[in-house]
Amino acid sequence: MDVHISEGRISRLSAPQTEPTRWGRGDVDGRGHSLLPGLVDAHIHLDKAYLLALLEEDDLPEGHLLDGDADCRQQRTLGGAGTAVTATAGATEAIGAGGAAGAGGAAGAGGAAGAGGLQQAMAAVQRLREERGLDIVRQGMDRLLTQMTRQGTVAARAHVEVGTGIDPVVVQVHREAAARHPLVQLQLVAFPQLGTSHDPDAARWMNRALDDGCTVVGGCPYADDDPELHLELVFALAAERGLPVDLHLDLTDDPQAAQIDLVLAAAARAGLEGRVNLGHMTALSAMSPQRLARVLAGLRDSGTSITAIPTTDLWLSGRTAQRPGVRGVAPVRALLEAGVRVALASNNHQNPFTPVSGGGLLRAAWLASLVCHIGDRAGQLQLLHAVTTSPAQILGLGRWEVGEDSSAPLLLAEVERAVDAVRVAPDVLRRLT
Ligand SMILES: [Zn+2]
Repeated sequence: MDVHISEGRISRLSAPQTEPTRWGRGDVDGRGHSLLPGLVDAHIHLDKAYLLALLEEDDLPEGHLLDGDADCRQQRTLGGAGTAVTATAGATEAIGAGGAAGAGGAAGAGGAAGAGGLQQAMAAVQRLREERGLDIVRQGMDRLLTQMTRQGTVAARAHVEVGTGIDPVVVQVHREAAARHPLVQLQLVAFPQLGTSHDPDAARWMNRALDDGCTVVGGCPYADDDPELHLELVFALAAERGLPVDLHLDLTDDPQAAQIDLVLAAAARAGLEGRVNLGHMTALSAMSPQRLARVLAGLRDSGTSITAIPTTDLWLSGRTAQRPGVRGVAPVRALLEAGVRVALASNNHQNPFTPVSGGGLLRAAWLASLVCHIGDRAGQLQLLHAVTTSPAQILGLGRWEVGEDSSAPLLLAEVERAVDAVRVAPDVLRRLT
């Protein structure tokens, strides 16, 4: 197939006619490749990207290579127990079709929204912003938009936090970032992350953000003392301005805390059915089959769309202390803390046991970080050990570290810090020896 492109659009599709030898400048050899439409990210936060390194204390050695000293110390600690365990982070043998509802049912009571994960994250980000101002916001935005452009994202809906205590210039900061990165088309959501009912100026801040360039009304009733009042404000603003609504909703393991019924009722009252999108909705995975069926019918009949967010939702869910959710992967953190040697492996590649592949072992470590709730730097460096030194010991490969007398071939990863090998999971590593 020849694809003729003119002024950024396909002008004609035709059977291949031209011999490669006669191709001119501007022709692209797409043989062996696939054409895709541009990727669109329906839910992103540009105003709090890449804050993790800023939140961490600089107390561990690091560099372009995994530090040899760090290896030795941690390996001695890990090597204490005699048992070796291989946790296969990429495996899905135990999860069959339709298993999501059943697995979610065991996720337990108590919400992620009320548990440490989400609250801690919000407080830490708030503190950092107060200390460091908008510069870190701009830096994070530029880094993320550059990355998105490289990875094929051509449009995104970005939630912009607004409310008392947040500099309203942040909307303008987003527009300036959009101008610096014209290959990503941005749509901005006015997002009152800290709730509205306690804030007498909430409506004013929301209106200002909408005047300044936000074209979607956001909200998160679970963050509000009075969810119904919150929804009333959000839907009134949207109806008044003729704008769509995009809510953060039901980010909880507790189906009893789900607010979906309130939202569907509010959308119907405001005449905004068909114009509402809901992000997260993890509570759906914990609902009884009967309730889930009812909610799904309500979503379908009202034309409400859902944006699921695998990374965040895996990270924030399954944290109920009394009854931790089933994660489907060996509890890597508990094993490491107990002094058990742990390796992460890839197991199957695109077969009935595991329908995906790619990303290599660093992707297994990346996934284990989310599923096993290992987000701190020391823990993530242990995940790096779980794909290097630990499996080398299990295989009996001898001394395996970045250091003298090590038999490990050396790899150069295109990340600034060793821990980023886990956080980013770069596809390409250059082998040096
Ligand atoms: Zn969000």
